[in-house]
Amino acid sequence: MQPEGTVNPMKKEPVRVREEDSSKRSASFCEVVLGYNEAEALKEASRCIQCKDPSCSRGCPVGIDIKKFIYQITRKEYKLAYLTLREKNDFPSICGRVCPAEYQCRKTCVFTKKGSAFASEQAINIHFLERFAGDYGKNNDLDIPIKKNEKLSKYKVAIVGSGPAGMAVAGELARQGIRVTMYEGLHKPGGVLRYGIPPFRLPRDILDFELDSLSKLGARLVPNYIIGKAKGLQELLDEGYDAVFLGLGAGIPTFLGIKGENLCNVYSANEFLARVNLMSAFKFPEFHTPVNIGKSIVVIGGGNTAMDAARAALRIQKIRGMAPDTTVLYRRTEIEMPARRLEIEHAREEGVKFRFLSSPEEFSGDETGFVKKLRCLECKLGEPDSSGRRRPIAIPGSDYEVDCDMAVIAIGLLANQVLTRVTPELATDKYSDVIVNKETMETSMKNVYAGGDIVGGEGTVIEAMGMAKKASRAIIKYLLQK
Ligand SMILES: Cc1cc2nc3c(=O)[nH]c(=O)nc-3n(C[C@H](O)[C@H](O)[C@H](O)COP(=O)(O)OP(=O)(O)OC[C@H]3O[C@@H](n4cnc5c(N)ncnc54)[C@H](O)[C@@H]3O)c2cc1C
Repeated sequence: MQPEGTVNPMKKEPVRVREEDSSKRSASFCEVVLGYNEAEALKEASRCIQCKDPSCSRGCPVGIDIKKFIYQITRKEYKLAYLTLREKNDFPSICGRVCPAEYQCRKTCVFTKKGSAFASEQAINIHFLERFAGDYGKNNDLDIPIKKNEKLSKYKVAIVGSGPAGMAVAGELARQGIRVTMYEGLHKPGGVLRYGIPPFRLPRDILDFELDSLSKLGARLVPNYIIGKAKGLQELLDEGYDAVFLGLGAGIPTFLGIKGENLCNVYSANEFLARVNLMSAFKFPEFHTPVNIGKSIVVIGGGNTAMDAARAALRIQKIRGMAPDTTVLYRRTEIEMPARRLEIEHAREEGVKFRFLSSPEEFSGDETGFVKKLRCLECKLGEPDSSGRRRPIAIPGSDYEVDCDMAVIAIGLLANQVLTRVTPELATDKYSDVIVNKETMETSMKNVYAGGDIVGGEGTVIEAMGMAKKASRAIIKYLLQK
């Protein structure tokens, strides 16, 4: 029975997270979601009914003990909550900001109706609580205890790629005393966390803090160094690395294959976002890399990449004093969009327009070679395809044209192949993803492990980190037996 004077947690309203005002934020790259303060976190945590058999953890790709860390928050044991998170997740401040919780832990929360496509509003805001505890750990310089193992300090491991997968392996191994070197092709580390996800979703001080923690643990970073070009994989092993981890990611854009796609101002989302996020093109000329921005921008796609590109493009239009005119074009309907629900909501609040059930057919340009128009066909939805989503079917004769002096194509990414192409001993599948033993993450090459998007294609940050943890355990086991 409910004690007198207390509110049944099932009836408590979810605590809305504070956000920067949409008119203010959409003309800057400052963080949109401001997070919970202590009072808000306590209130939201008190809604958790501490299920006997918590289904939420089953929705988390790394199996965080969600019930426990939320309970610790309710008791104001923030340090313990942080340590609980860190048992399974090395970067809670990052995941608390970018995890698609509505498809993961919140979707399996007992407050979400069974069979829903994504979490219901009533589901506990686990990700905001994770962010709260993660930021508490960061702001108080907490770390999990270092368990350096003398037996391991003589070994060295090379990590190729410094995205979330590479970062997670670096942390796991360096904490054990293993000498770790991270090779990164770009001039700055972080992978998609730096070049893909804009700072208004993941402020760079959060990412830099995690990277600094890795260097404090002794992990060495070698930037501007492409394995497969500057040095081969076998060369790394021959140089005396005891094991190698490949966290190469999926950084190759896919294109529509339609006429006019080569016109000027038609970008791949990767190029556009890398210019903006990695090279700070939104601050041109203060930063050297420019980016052309159109008056009528069309972004093609329905995932996080499309949302990031649209929201970044609209911001730059506003920063440059242009009238905002950015439209997302998607072949299915909103319900099938794979983007995080919050990103869709934020994009809309900021002024991004959406046109659903539209298939791009042909770009046309002017005499100078710049894109000007996009011809589309209207679509209807057919039976579900292999992705489980209803297939879009273009309707013949339903052509219409939109103004489009800039387009961003965000329809998916493929494996980075610079290394795999020159390493035939490394077995890959038909998508050029690296094939691994799912238990150990070991590849077809002895002592070479892989994880993240290079295994199984475009995924999520937490999934990449989960694979990294698995690989780290296998590497440590192997080194201890060596
Ligand atoms: C725009 C965008 C938005 C996203 N938003 C979200 C989100 O909100 N939430 C979420 O969970 N997921 C999101 N994702 C997916 C998520 O970012 C990825 O699943 C995750 O980053 C994969 O991590 P990774 O370490 O495997 O690869 P990456 O992050 O891609 O990192 C790979 C790194 O390896 C480097 N590299 C590659 N080849 C070599 C080589 N031969 N030598 C040296 N270095 C090399 C690359 O330069 C890169 O830095 C998003 C993806 C994109 C593109």
